[in-house]
Formats: sequence, structure tokens, C-alpha cells
Amino acid sequence: MEQEIREYALDVGFDDVGYTTAEPFPQLTEALDERRSGYSWVSEGLLQIGSVADPRFVLPSARSIVILIYDYYKQAYPAQLEGSVGKAYQSRLYPGKKRLFGSRLRLIREFLQEKGMEVGFRPAMPERQAAVRAGVGQFGCNTFVYSPGRGSYIAIASLAVSGELEPQSSSPPSACKDSCNKCIEACPTGALYAPFKMDPLRCIAFNTYAPGNFPGTPDDIPYNIREKMGSWIYGCDICQDACPHNSKRLKQKLVPDAFLEEMAPKLAPQKLLTMSDLYYHSIVQPILYGYMWEKKFLQRNAAIALGNEGDPDAVDLLISALEDPQDMVRSYSAWALGRIGGRKSNFALEKALAGEEEEKVKEEIRSALENS
Ligand code: SF4
Ligand code: SF4
Repeated sequence: MEQEIREYALDVGFDDVGYTTAEPFPQLTEALDERRSGYSWVSEGLLQIGSVADPRFVLPSARSIVILIYDYYKQAYPAQLEGSVGKAYQSRLYPGKKRLFGSRLRLIREFLQEKGMEVGFRPAMPERQAAVRAGVGQFGCNTFVYSPGRGSYIAIASLAVSGELEPQSSSPPSACKDSCNKCIEACPTGALYAPFKMDPLRCIAFNTYAPGNFPGTPDDIPYNIREKMGSWIYGCDICQDACPHNSKRLKQKLVPDAFLEEMAPKLAPQKLLTMSDLYYHSIVQPILYGYMWEKKFLQRNAAIALGNEGDPDAVDLLISALEDPQDMVRSYSAWALGRIGGRKSNFALEKALAGEEEEKVKEEIRSALENS
């Protein structure tokens, strides 16, 4: 059965398959308990810490976990998206009938069901821990999982199944040499504060999609993080790009991804900041990961990117965004104008302050004026 599943999974496009038992992952509970301050939003939010570590919360009859690895870095990533959108975007990663990854997963689920198994799946499965326990991955100090010979640009999915499958032996848990510290040194926000320890609240990737969007998360992106976000509008690859285990892959000559080459200019921050609902719903939203639920979050990130890039040509666009119906967009556009500075920005900020009714936006405008 294990061989049959493997062959089918490789046939539908996955790159590696592993099996482990459905026993809980106590190390994950311990790690989350130890770092509760960074994850305080989790218990109130989408996930529950206890359930993440126990596959039987997903499927009470679970006896095994099937782990599927998909290597998404098979085509060149558009230069225009480097430093702006995380490469995981290349995997069209999340479940959903119209998404590649979702379609592959659906095929595997149906295959397992045809073999008489119950199958449980949801994003809260402990995918990384399961991959390591099944011997198909190792943790890097940056907390990403590395697939031997492939690196960390992988998507992992795990399915809890009722069938008894022969578990594989665990990998050595770490992919890192003691002397390497490159990912920690490269992280601009200090989110990677020790080997294998990451504070999501300081992580750029997390801040591009969670604040104000996930229940329990802070409403705003802290000022000190905004400045360090650079041009990132969706995700962050810095600690993976810095890793020697990925460097060979990054130097490979790959064919361009035609779809993303076409998408890249459509994701420019100038386009996103003032996009219409139609643009968001027809072009951008259909290929988001599935958890950026309102366009204002991408507009916010676009404003931050434009502010950090400091391009005076973006000033007019940011000034027009001071009239956006969303408080969030007006607030972050004000922040960006303060960061770019100059007489034109200041004049627009003063005018906006006089006409602004929301106290929170007024505070942002005042702060922008002080800092410009
Ligand atoms: S994704 Fe970016 S911000 Fe987050 S830990 Fe890695 S380098 Fe730091
Ligand atoms: S950069 Fe070095 S320490 Fe960090 S994950 Fe890669 S090998 Fe490990």
C-alpha cells in the first residue's frame, strides 16, 4: 500500500512522500508553550495550540499520517517579485479546487478514500514535525523544513488517515552545521532570535498577512517592523535565500514561469495601492494563498513598500490614497508619505489632517508629520 500511494503521489506531481504514526507531537506543544507570548493570538484565533499537536483532533480514527512534499522551485521566479512576494507564491500553494496544489491534494485524498481509508486534513496539521518524524525533512535553524537535496522551497501537506501504514525512520532533526548562523544574521527584524526559534509577531511574512486579519492578532504592524519590511508585500524569503542549503538551487538556470511573469507587473505596489474591487477580485484574490481576506491588507502592504522604497514618483499615488474609504489604507499611506518626506508630502498630510474624522487615522497623520 505504501508503495502504491507513493507512486500515485509522484504521478500527480508531488516530489516525495513519507509516512509516520498519528501519535501526537509533544515537542510541538512544549515549544508553543515555551513561546506562548509570540503565539498568544493562536488560542483565540484560527488555531488551538493543543489541537495543532495532535493529528487525532483532525481525524479521531487516525492511525497514520501521509506526508506529501512538493518542490515548488522548478521554474525561475520573476525578478520583479524577488524581494516583494515570497517564492511560496510559486507553488499556488493552498487548497481549493481551482488551485494546483489543492487539486493534487484532492486527487490523493480521493485515492486514499478509494483504498478504504478515512482521511482528515486541515491546515492546522503539524506538517513540519510530521515531515521530520517521517524522515522526509529536517529542520533548519530558520524553522523551515529542508527536503534532502531540494532545500526549503517546498510545500508540505499532511493527511491523517485511518489506515495503518508502515512508519519510516526519522531524519536527524537538524539540517544545520553548528558553525552556520546565516539565517539568523540575515533576518532584518530579529524574528529569528535563536536557532530554531522564531517570534511570528516580529516576522515580516507574518506581518504581511496576519495583523488585523487573523482574529487575536494586533490591529497594526509595529513601526519598527514597517521600516524593516522593505519592499515585501506578501511573505518574506530572506532567511531562506541566505541559507547555504538553498544556494545551489538559487544559482540554477531555470525556465521562466510564464504565468508568474505575466502576473508580476500586476502585483507592483503602485498597482495594488489604489486597485479597484474588480481588479482585486478578478486578478489578485484568485491566486492569493486563501487567507488574505480583504484587499485593504494588500493595499496597506503596498503603501509600506512604497514608503520604504522612498520613490518621489509614488508621492502622488499615496496622496490620492489618503482619500481611500478604508481607514487602514489612509493610515498607512500617511505613514508612507511621512517616510518619504518632502514639502509635497507634508502639505498633503496637513490637508488630510484637517479633513480627517477618524481619530486613529489622525494619530497616524500626526506621527507622519512629526517623523517626516
Ligand atoms: S521570513 Fe523574514 S522576517 Fe521572518 S524570520 Fe525569516 S527573514 Fe526573518
Ligand atoms: S542558514 Fe545555516 S543555520 Fe540557517 S537554516 Fe541554513 S544551514 Fe541552518
